[in-house]
Amino acid sequence: MKTADVLIIGGGIIGCSIALELTRTRVRVLILERDRIGCEASGEAAGMLAPQAEGLSPGPFLDLCLKSREMFGPLQETLKNETGIDIEVLRSGLLYPFLTEEDEGYGKRLFEEQRGRGLTVEWWDRRHVLEAEPHVTPAIRGALYLADDHQVQNARMVRALSLAGARSGARTVEGSPVTAIVRDGDRVIGVRSLTETYHAAQVVIAAGAWSGTLGELVHHEIPIRPARGQLLSIQTRGELIRHILYGREVYVVPRASGEVVVGSTVEFVGFEKSVTAAGVEGLLAAARRLVPALGSRPMLAAWAGFRPSTPDELPYLGPVPGAPGLYIASGHFRNGILLAPVTGQLMAELLRDEKPSLSLSPFRLDR
Ligand SMILES: Cc1cc2nc3c(=O)[nH]c(=O)nc-3n(C[C@H](O)[C@H](O)[C@H](O)COP(=O)(O)OP(=O)(O)OC[C@H]3O[C@@H](n4cnc5c(N)ncnc54)[C@H](O)[C@@H]3O)c2cc1C
Repeated sequence: MKTADVLIIGGGIIGCSIALELTRTRVRVLILERDRIGCEASGEAAGMLAPQAEGLSPGPFLDLCLKSREMFGPLQETLKNETGIDIEVLRSGLLYPFLTEEDEGYGKRLFEEQRGRGLTVEWWDRRHVLEAEPHVTPAIRGALYLADDHQVQNARMVRALSLAGARSGARTVEGSPVTAIVRDGDRVIGVRSLTETYHAAQVVIAAGAWSGTLGELVHHEIPIRPARGQLLSIQTRGELIRHILYGREVYVVPRASGEVVVGSTVEFVGFEKSVTAAGVEGLLAAARRLVPALGSRPMLAAWAGFRPSTPDELPYLGPVPGAPGLYIASGHFRNGILLAPVTGQLMAELLRDEKPSLSLSPFRLDR
């Protein structure tokens, strides 16, 4: 297919989620992916759905995150029915542990703020934490328990979104980097890859940390840069912890597979995708301060990925000014897995010329 109604640049979780939503209403969608579906941040992330632990201030971004978090239960069921893939939405709950007086002070503020907003939040003392999580350090002072923050297996989720999209008519071309955006006057009418020209009435940039490079193709500054995150996994056979532990220095995510994922650094080092000795050392030391027994378990892997970061850490969702026909859905930084369902829904509404069910104006590119 060389023509489409909507052409999406980038086959990460954001591109795949938008594609699936559009195919639900028979829009002809084409995704062009430079490499493989889900091969970058979307496949590499920790999969936490944790807007409360992120400590976001009340406002449109927190509303967006909370709406998206609610969408995971129904989405899991739909994707399971349509593709047979279980995206492992685990209602593990999350503990925000206090190791220092400073942590505790921060926790107190978060507790009051979230309780004031009607969010589910409990204050657990040391004894309560150690009863629930006996492998957490005895030096723990207490924790916030956030029952509604939870997790998904992000690599499975991208695969399931892509497969469900394909089954309802979306086309994907992998190994196909977009190298030019084709215009007729100002209007964007398609793109070029290394070997083909594609035409589409609407083109969406969903290229994660590389979205800025695509902006350059239409001489538009899209201030997105890569924030490297290093992660590692440890085999615990599901024995050590049950809740996500989200500390100020490190998080530890117990996955359905029995592994825990430990993360993550935030580094502005360009597109340098190495795992560094200092990165791994820092993560391991912080994880062991929280759960000492992790030190005796087999380490399985370490990897790095690029979060698409924006200057104010909010995503860009909407038209690209001065380039009719061109849209952006990118810059989700630390929360792109969490935000994928709501982004798919809102962008599909916008592209179908419907009124988005949440206002997109706080997320305009020219805000
Ligand atoms: C270490 C780490 C931990 C994280 N943990 C969490 C978490 O716990 N919870 C959470 O919600 N989020 C988390 N995130 C953030 C989340 O992973 C990202 O926000 C999200 O994956 C971004 O999705 P995306 O589809 O925009 O980008 P990506 O997944 O990066 O996809 C963009 C795609 O575009 C393709 N592409 C680039 N250029 C071109 C081109 N010219 N032509 C065609 N294709 C192109 C790329 O190959 C890539 O596949 C984490 C990220 C990292 C790195």
